[in-house]
Amino acid sequence: MSCNTTNHEFDAQTKKINQFLQKVDHKIVVMSGKGGVGKSTVATNLAVFLSNQGYQVGLLDVDVHGPSIAGLLGLTGFKLNFSGNLIQPYHYTDKLKVVSIQGLLEQPDDPLIWRGPVKIGIIRQFLADVNWGPLDFLIIDSPPGTGDEPLTVAQTVTGCQAVIVTTPQEIALADVRKSIQFCRKVNMPVLGLIENMSGFVCPTCGSLHAIFKSGGGEKTASASSIPFLGRLPIDPGVVTAGDAGQAIDSLTTHTKEEMQHVVDQMLQQLPNKQKGADVTMKIAIPLAGGKLCTHFGHCEQFAIVTVENGKIAKQETLTPPPHAPGVIPNWVADQGCTDILVGGMGEAAQAILQERGIKVTCGAPSDTPENLVALYLRGELIDSGNACGHDHDDHHGHGCGGH
Ligand code: ADP
Repeated sequence: MSCNTTNHEFDAQTKKINQFLQKVDHKIVVMSGKGGVGKSTVATNLAVFLSNQGYQVGLLDVDVHGPSIAGLLGLTGFKLNFSGNLIQPYHYTDKLKVVSIQGLLEQPDDPLIWRGPVKIGIIRQFLADVNWGPLDFLIIDSPPGTGDEPLTVAQTVTGCQAVIVTTPQEIALADVRKSIQFCRKVNMPVLGLIENMSGFVCPTCGSLHAIFKSGGGEKTASASSIPFLGRLPIDPGVVTAGDAGQAIDSLTTHTKEEMQHVVDQMLQQLPNKQKGADVTMKIAIPLAGGKLCTHFGHCEQFAIVTVENGKIAKQETLTPPPHAPGVIPNWVADQGCTDILVGGMGEAAQAILQERGIKVTCGAPSDTPENLVALYLRGELIDSGNACGHDHDDHHGHGCGGH
């Protein structure tokens, strides 16, 4: 692995990263102002709880100086393997894949003494060269503070949102405010704040004691106009479970319910959190002659298919405004679409759609909207990624089947 990349290699890697990120519905970096507040515990448990709910989750540990996710999940002797040019993530379950910087160490206790550019290079490689497959969530555990690693994540992971973990003490909250400012400066939305180690669960009687003046996390969130996602108590069970490589879902205390509450609150903040049965999706498909038109920018009409509870609830056929650069992607977003299935699409159009929170799947065949949506819902419409490059939104002269 090298950070000595030329501009051309850097651009090629950026392209690979963006192709991977296109296949991830939600990218979330877990941050904290200080070390030891439970950031890795929260990141690990967010990933475990989401995967327990049926989501495909990738958990990426880029906490270079204190990678703890392998330990928290009990992955003793964790090593990353290569298959061809790709790093294989560790399959913790069929829904949860894990990659940690720990997997590159010769000995688990070896320290990593790396300068900024090397760390940046490794993080980029974990985004470009890992065989993650499509994900509903990518959860990234970054080191505390606002240094190279969170900055690299913010600058590289398009569409990334932050979850910030704090403890109730003022000294931790002061650093959290810095993390919030950091997110604002790098234009990374904050999904919310979690107050960890908030009160104490007595191991003898199981009751919760408010040993700190609590409420600081909630007040800080409210003063910064960010959502408060909930609090987790100090629970000796969390330490025992973590040391034994088990997640909070193995606990019998209320902490398990509190963690589920945090996950539910976080999901509430996310649009397009589909895949669950209770979710509505609006899928756009460019049409010509009643079938998908492979030339997105020049199609005659769009099918807009509303899916509720996993079934087509409504299907409309709408005529888009006349073609001009950027017009059609914005029009698709204005229709409230959550997903779009296309044959090919230029990068500029993809960027607009992605920015507006729409999931783009490229490489769809010329078929009817009903068949394509059925394939998509079964997870059988595989995004071809790079096939997206061949039809530019601002490209003239190509007709499609129905022109
Ligand atoms: P960070 O990533 O912020 O450095 P960790 O998640 O590694 O913090 O947690 C540090 C230690 O605190 C670990 O031993 C972990 O088990 C423990 N810990 C985290 N959250 C709790 C909690 N709610 N109750 C008790 N111990 C906790």
